[in-house]
Amino acid sequence: MTYGMIATWRMAYEGVLHQSEKLADGSSAGDVLEGVIKEVEEFANFISVGYGGLPNEEGIVQLDAAYMDGTTLEIGAVAGLENIKNPISVARKLSKERFNSFRIAEGAKKCAVKMGFEQEDLLTEKSKEKWEEKKKEIEAKEISPYDGHDTIGTVVLDKAHHMAAGTSSSGLFMKKEGRVGDSPLPGSGFYVDSDIGGATATGLGEDLMKGILSYEVVRKMEEGLPPKDAAQRTLEEFEKKLKRKYGKVGAMSLICMDNKGEWGIATNVEFTFVVATESQKPTIYISHRTEDGQVIIEKTTEEWLKDYLGNVNNRTE
Ligand code: ASP
Repeated sequence: MTYGMIATWRMAYEGVLHQSEKLADGSSAGDVLEGVIKEVEEFANFISVGYGGLPNEEGIVQLDAAYMDGTTLEIGAVAGLENIKNPISVARKLSKERFNSFRIAEGAKKCAVKMGFEQEDLLTEKSKEKWEEKKKEIEAKEISPYDGHDTIGTVVLDKAHHMAAGTSSSGLFMKKEGRVGDSPLPGSGFYVDSDIGGATATGLGEDLMKGILSYEVVRKMEEGLPPKDAAQRTLEEFEKKLKRKYGKVGAMSLICMDNKGEWGIATNVEFTFVVATESQKPTIYISHRTEDGQVIIEKTTEEWLKDYLGNVNNRTE
């Protein structure tokens, strides 16, 4: 039986690399997905997820995450969770609950602590510095605070034909206290059905949630569209609609994989993602859309990687 996974952004690479071996050895989609996302959450230099995530306007790190089992359709999610390093693990545990499986803020934290998760300070010196700099910049120039985000989203297909999808994010940098993005919202930030496939989204949550885009990608795959076309058509159609009805379109990127291990993406910004399948070792791709609407997907160059790693490693200095 074939297997594979796809994940958003370059930051997923190490997790995908380590977990792809486990996937090949027969580990479950759920374990592999949790493993990939935990690795990103725990690395402080990835500043948009988990420990070291960028804080909200008040200087507090509030995390959103979700987990979905494509075989049972179980969903667990947390939003505005503070002081817990691995929201994806809390979300996965919650997915086993018949009731109360989506928890927010203080209630989510209390429940995580009850489950045995340790409380810790997630704000690193580096993220705090960035927050202080940004605050000054905003006060001086009235610039838009909303950059410095990126959600880790992953879809996994295992050898036993089970699928899982999940997300984890600190949301938009400088978001208002209590703001929740698309990442923990079923259908919007993620969706998966092992009989079809799964999808996750990243970008401006406020726009992504207007289109319930992850569910729409899965629905299009169910209708028979190949993943590539399902993702691209979903984004194209929605962008047109949003432009017409709302007048503005934020950054949006989608990844998906069907239950045969075929994958697809769509994006309206420069977007990196990582794929590993039975026939393909973990590979980082970079994609963008040309002015005439063509989607270009290329493997990242050595030079690009060096630059990227330089930036990430600098964050500890
Ligand atoms: N979608 C996330 C949010 O709006 C941010 C991101 O994916 O970059 O919270």
